Amino acid sequence: MKIAVFDDYRLGVVVDEHVVDVTPLLPDVHPAMRPHLLAELISRYGELRERLLAPEGRTLPLKDVRLRAACPAPRNFLAAPLNYVDHGAEMLASTGSTATAKELGFFVKAAGSLSGASDDLELPDLPGRRFDHEGEIGVVIGRAARGVSRDDALDHVFGYTVVVDATMRMTETQREERTFRKSFATFGPCGPWIVTADEAGDPAEMQIQLSVNGELRQDGALKDLIVDVPGLIEQASAVLPLQPGDLIATGTPVGVGELHPADEVVVTSPQIGSMNLTVRRRAW
Ligand code: MN
Repeated sequence: MKIAVFDDYRLGVVVDEHVVDVTPLLPDVHPAMRPHLLAELISRYGELRERLLAPEGRTLPLKDVRLRAACPAPRNFLAAPLNYVDHGAEMLASTGSTATAKELGFFVKAAGSLSGASDDLELPDLPGRRFDHEGEIGVVIGRAARGVSRDDALDHVFGYTVVVDATMRMTETQREERTFRKSFATFGPCGPWIVTADEAGDPAEMQIQLSVNGELRQDGALKDLIVDVPGLIEQASAVLPLQPGDLIATGTPVGVGELHPADEVVVTSPQIGSMNLTVRRRAW
């Protein structure tokens, strides 16, 4: 099943080229609180699943809705640093480090950087700075996870989505914290929806591709992760309790490259879906 967040953070089930509005299945909340309704749906998924499988309600063509971040309000948005051997090699020159997600654990990316498949990726006007794409698979937590072993970890997954972990690179003299460089508004495109774990199958079978202006830049597979999905959940849940709706970006394969205004980015996972994102200069 594909769960989307659309328009004013309504919840929908995607069926072919349409989205069925299932927001009425959940409590009526103030519109400002609606980004948090996804966590409610996830928490009650067992009880709601049958109705979501045969959704009833207002049905809209996907092309007519604004797709928001598929995971719009995670309490924790964690991300794996270097988690593919080949990407580690390409980053060695700029970071001077051979450490991977195995030794480094996770970093935090601000949830406020999340945006959706219908949004543009906006670059701040900072002359001389380089902005990169990092195409990744995101894991959405389904059940609270504290101190979970890797053998049990996949029981705590709600589903999977596609994430771009956009990044401002350091320079010789400008060496801001990683969280700062990765947390600009719209630096976390997430979508186009969540594919539930029951439909997605084994995460080790998933692939991620990213192209810019029609040129394939990244083509990776989760089977090549240094710390795999169960390992990432084990590692993170040993540090803090993960909550339904939390998001873990699994790391990016080799091929990261620069983004410039007017670039057209297509990021695809055959097991999940695609986002077509236009890069723009930020207007504010
Ligand atoms: Mn990344």
